Amino acid sequence: MSSLIEHFEQLALSLPLLETVKELGYEAPSPIQAATIPPMLDGCDVLGQAQTGTGKTAAFALPILEKLDLSDREPQALVLTPTRELAIQVAEAFQGYARHIPGFHVLPIYGGQSMSLQLRHLRRGVHVVVGTPGRVMDHLRRETLSLAALRTVVLDEADEMLRMGFIDDVDWILEQTPEEKQVALFSATMPEPIRRVAHRHLRDPREVKIETHTATVATVRQRYCQVGAQHKLDALTRVLEVEDADAILIFVRTKIAATELAERLEARGYPSAALHGDMTQALREKTIEQLRGGNLDIVVATDVAARGLDVQRISHVVNYDIPYDTEAYIHRIGRTGRAGRAGDAILFIAPRELRLLRAIEKATRQPIERMPLPTPEAITGHRLAQFKQQVGEVFSSQDLGFFQELVAEIEREQEMSVHDIAAALTYLAQRDRPFQFEDAIPKDAEKERERPPGRPTREGRASRGERFSRDSGDFDKIRYRIDVGREHGATPQNIMGAIANEAGIEGRYIGRIEIHDDYSTVDLPNGMPPEIFQHLKRVRVRQHVLNIRRLDGVEPERKRPGRSKAERGGNREAAERKPARRRSTQPVD
Ligand code: AMP
Repeated sequence: MSSLIEHFEQLALSLPLLETVKELGYEAPSPIQAATIPPMLDGCDVLGQAQTGTGKTAAFALPILEKLDLSDREPQALVLTPTRELAIQVAEAFQGYARHIPGFHVLPIYGGQSMSLQLRHLRRGVHVVVGTPGRVMDHLRRETLSLAALRTVVLDEADEMLRMGFIDDVDWILEQTPEEKQVALFSATMPEPIRRVAHRHLRDPREVKIETHTATVATVRQRYCQVGAQHKLDALTRVLEVEDADAILIFVRTKIAATELAERLEARGYPSAALHGDMTQALREKTIEQLRGGNLDIVVATDVAARGLDVQRISHVVNYDIPYDTEAYIHRIGRTGRAGRAGDAILFIAPRELRLLRAIEKATRQPIERMPLPTPEAITGHRLAQFKQQVGEVFSSQDLGFFQELVAEIEREQEMSVHDIAAALTYLAQRDRPFQFEDAIPKDAEKERERPPGRPTREGRASRGERFSRDSGDFDKIRYRIDVGREHGATPQNIMGAIANEAGIEGRYIGRIEIHDDYSTVDLPNGMPPEIFQHLKRVRVRQHVLNIRRLDGVEPERKRPGRSKAERGGNREAAERKPARRRSTQPVD
């Protein structure tokens, strides 16, 4: 691992990109970036073992952007991803990193999206294409996508592509690319079939791997809280409410996030300070002294700024943003449990990042317990208990003569009982911060995000499968017949992959798949919208049109009136906004 690279300026990136990473608040290249960017800039092939969350998108996007010829409007880079969500995410990341490169165009292409829209964009000219294998193949067959000018191909999450049955498609696509090109393959694991692809298509690749040293962190109790990005701040608030903490160190990824989170916590009534590399040494030292002396209880830090921090009061480390790798994790949680004390580490993790969790467990050889999000009821209970205790403490420690007189006066003048007066005063005491806790996390947020073990899915997935199966009760299935079978070389994996991507149905909602000689059957959730059904009919597996139909011969009803485009999944943004609408109509209790 090139530990010599500690600053983005050490990488041969030009000013617009350096400016961008600075604006994004990236403090230093992540290990995968430090190791991948230099060989990619040199034109070498790269075989990178890295999972989501390590910063691998920037690791390939920055060198691709650096080497782009903007005047050439044929695709110069192709990124293949296993799912449409990842394709969209990667395309958005490219757009973000190219904010100072005017005229740059990236296009995500994936199944389920209108072909004509993609064609229009392709005709207009794009520099980078990010797509799922199925749709990229479609375009190549129709000759609507030219790869003649391609210089770089990236295979992102190759093991997922393998799991979803796309690896032969990937092979085929690679065969359609020019001989002279750079290939970067990223995969969280390196099973044999991936190694074979690498062997066939990569030339003398630089192998990049995030080393995971094992380390014991015996005095630290480790827990994780599964929470999507949109609820992280509320989740943190809940945790701060109930944890019995002395001082808390919260880790984020960027300088901007450190400042912002500290400000937002302040605004919610939790005095906090940021600690990051852009602060002067004097200010950093002052903050640390305040923390050490007990004048400050919450510090929001970046990895670089917290390096070597040794404050014994730190009882809790919260990994608000996940670390890039297990080393960073171990370093972070080592900031607590100092001097033989016990410490607590809490990791916030989105469902799609669960793999990193497993890697950390392996590296620390300790299980990380799941921590359910404290409920509003528990927080209210906690606040009441605290209040009761305070009342007792004030009574036994303060001279209350003046106040007792005052209460007696109110009793006389207002003809109130002492009981009523106490109740009114209690109300006043909590008016600015009511005992009854409420926030924006929907009651079923955790349940919604629960995934069956071993099948991490991407956060924010607004899967149509998920939606219509819920509408119709708990996974009520219908058996379908498709016109590809063993003779055509179909496997359950490639059928599942095609259906998952083209119909946007999550894998767990794809039921039993039976392969017969010249056809197969597959169980799918009842209530499939007709548009999806029509689309699936035309989807191909192993070059054969599925021509899907119900095994019992019933055709699904025609289009229901009033279903919006968003509900059909045509507009991702609108579809993702939908749960929020549903939430706001939920009663808040
Ligand atoms: P990825 O592993 O590519 O999905 O990236 C995970 C997250 O890390 C994204 O939100 C990036 O914006 C962020 N990120 C990537 N590189 C850096 C960096 N060098 N410093 C801080 N954040 C980063």
